[in-house]
Amino acid sequence: MKTERSAELLKRAQAVIPGGVNSPVRAFRAVGGVPPFITKAQGANLWDADGNRYLDYVGSWGPMILGHAEPSVVEAAKVAIERSSSFGAPTEAEVKMAELVVQRVPSVERVRLVSSGTEATMSAIRVARGATGRDDIVKFEGCYHGHADYLLVKAGSGVATFDLPDSPGVPADFAKHTITLPYNDADALTALFEARGDEIAAVIVEPITGNMGVIPPASEFLETLRRVTKAHGAVLIFDEVMTGFRVHPAGAQGLLGITPDLSAFGKIIGGGMPMAAYGGRADLMDQVAPAGPIYQAGTLSGNPCAVAAGLKTLQALGAPGTYDQLEKTCKGLEAGLTDALQSAGVSGRIQRVGSMLTLFFNDGRPVRNFEEVRACDHEKFKKFFHGMLERGIYLPASGYEAWFVSLAHTAEDIERTVEAARGALGDL
Ligand SMILES: *Cc1c(COP(=O)(O)O)cnc(C)c1O
Repeated sequence: MKTERSAELLKRAQAVIPGGVNSPVRAFRAVGGVPPFITKAQGANLWDADGNRYLDYVGSWGPMILGHAEPSVVEAAKVAIERSSSFGAPTEAEVKMAELVVQRVPSVERVRLVSSGTEATMSAIRVARGATGRDDIVKFEGCYHGHADYLLVKAGSGVATFDLPDSPGVPADFAKHTITLPYNDADALTALFEARGDEIAAVIVEPITGNMGVIPPASEFLETLRRVTKAHGAVLIFDEVMTGFRVHPAGAQGLLGITPDLSAFGKIIGGGMPMAAYGGRADLMDQVAPAGPIYQAGTLSGNPCAVAAGLKTLQALGAPGTYDQLEKTCKGLEAGLTDALQSAGVSGRIQRVGSMLTLFFNDGRPVRNFEEVRACDHEKFKKFFHGMLERGIYLPASGYEAWFVSLAHTAEDIERTVEAARGALGDL
């Protein structure tokens, strides 16, 4: 595999961009080696600056659920940009987008469009604090909710990958209002709420985690969460930036049948453009300016090109059979990988919900929380990752992430991936 051109670009990048990348996990620090600099993508395939082609399981970390450069999305964005890339004024397309979200996700009565998942979770927490008049929030170890100060506490994704302590630059005075608990521990949650439930503004959770790898909620965990937050007047926020429109048309809340007070969306909702959203109960959202006093704004919020791409993406996902196809494709991948592990005599655990999947290298037991993800063999993942990359399969460059299957992945793609996995696992 040629890497000269990417290596050269990385060197140039490192001289002018911190670590050479605009978001940490892209740098491949956890797995080593040179990250391919991407030139284009189509469907489920990526090409890099050295002319290598890869089958893509990153999908821009979630948004590309239709596959790359899906013609209707490209066309919609083109039409939009020709009418100008931004107005800073309301448009009909934003209304359509909001109507679609409200229609698809029953817990959302009002929704506000923003530009990133970070902004969505940050704003949802501001609403919860403003509405309750309380300061403390609760998050779970290994969940990632973007990089707002008070959410960068025991966070997942890149923070976990690099095993960073809580980030420098976050004042202790901010972090002290964030209480962290282990994921999937209903008892710890109950105990906390018994002790100080009336001081808690909000609990934010990835209802199915993706940012420490795929971990489904244990039975009773989210039910308990819903019950104690309600009993104590705390706002329950589902961070569906990853799961929203992916695991079910109504996100994890639709799949699991639990109704949060507020939700954050991102990734898929923008169809690969910088767009995200937060929304939920009307009585909470109507406290956001200008309807109410809680301030939140954005020059590029509801950007017409992003809204156009996002709308097309959600509309395409609304066609009959899309979620069945995603389920079937990813289930095929899970089955193939399970078989490949067995044939290679390598122990591991595959966890999947719909079209998101993680292969954990452990003794085969279920992985239920951050401690158990940390305890996995990340050196083995590193070798496996490079074995796959050399075979043309592009996986997330960390054992703490989810792989994503798109509607563009074919049965042949899955076969090719499983073949590659047989080779890569055989070499471990
Ligand atoms: C990606 C992600 C975020 C952050 O979104 P950005 O657009 O990267 O700011 C927040 N929460 C979850 C669950 C995510 O997966």
